[in-house]
Amino acid sequence: MKTWRIAPGSSVSLDSLPTRSTDGAPGGKKATKAALTELTQQISDLQERLWAEHKQSLLVVLQAMDTAGKDSTTRAVFSGVNPQGVKVASFKAPTSTELDHDFLWRIHQTAPARGGIVVFNRSHYEDVLVVRVKDLAPEPVWRERYGLINAFEDQLRHGGTTVIKFFLHISKHEQAERLQARLDEPTKLWKFSANDLTERARWDNYQRAYQEAIEQTSTKHAPWYIIPSDRKWYRNWAVGKVIADTLEGLDPQYPEPTVLDPDLKIV
Ligand code: AMP
Ligand code: MG
Repeated sequence: MKTWRIAPGSSVSLDSLPTRSTDGAPGGKKATKAALTELTQQISDLQERLWAEHKQSLLVVLQAMDTAGKDSTTRAVFSGVNPQGVKVASFKAPTSTELDHDFLWRIHQTAPARGGIVVFNRSHYEDVLVVRVKDLAPEPVWRERYGLINAFEDQLRHGGTTVIKFFLHISKHEQAERLQARLDEPTKLWKFSANDLTERARWDNYQRAYQEAIEQTSTKHAPWYIIPSDRKWYRNWAVGKVIADTLEGLDPQYPEPTVLDPDLKIV
């Protein structure tokens, strides 16, 4: 996990962090896919224990440029997990009702309850990313949010929630190929939006916004992991590995059985 984890207070240069590396993988594509299958089984078992224990919860934040694979990573990592135990929350541009509240209002409502796992497909981080890049709020407003986000995530921790955050790191070149594939393949065309090109044109601004957001909010208890994501099989395995190890660290326990009446009979 250390390969990808951003230590608190370190400076981040996305340009110099790899997008195609397969560092630490258990082997090539085939072996790594097989390893992911084992990880998903492990995640499934741990999820069940987490649910039974009903004390702690896990929040997984996924952030990335378009096409980096937030959806497919979720699918790959949580396949085989009881659908009751995992929820996915996707955050789009805020509605007018949401905009009438503070930026964390809609977020807090979808945070996991005890025993649960929630995956954020985009998150409160959009409020220091897209909001910054598209100038949707003045700089002093979004800048103050780094501290507010850290305090919020600490509040979640106080309530028993462990927060881990992933940036799926792809190269600009890889994004071009994936956008082109969406245009070329009829079954992928639905994913394409002209807005993707507008956002792509702001690539450098987004990278800068990501860098600073990660620097400001990678904390001991709510760390960022930057995952090389040009190779999908490596990306899926790496995210699965961090999630499995994190759940393992929570060490959820089945509750002690209550002492039953020895004469109890099912009639
Ligand atoms: P998609 O993930 O492709 O469905 O797109 C969702 C869109 O919602 C993206 O363009 C995000 O930038 C946008 N979005 C998400 N959260 C916010 C936010 N807090 N403020 C403005 N736009 C947002
Ligand atoms: Mg999109």
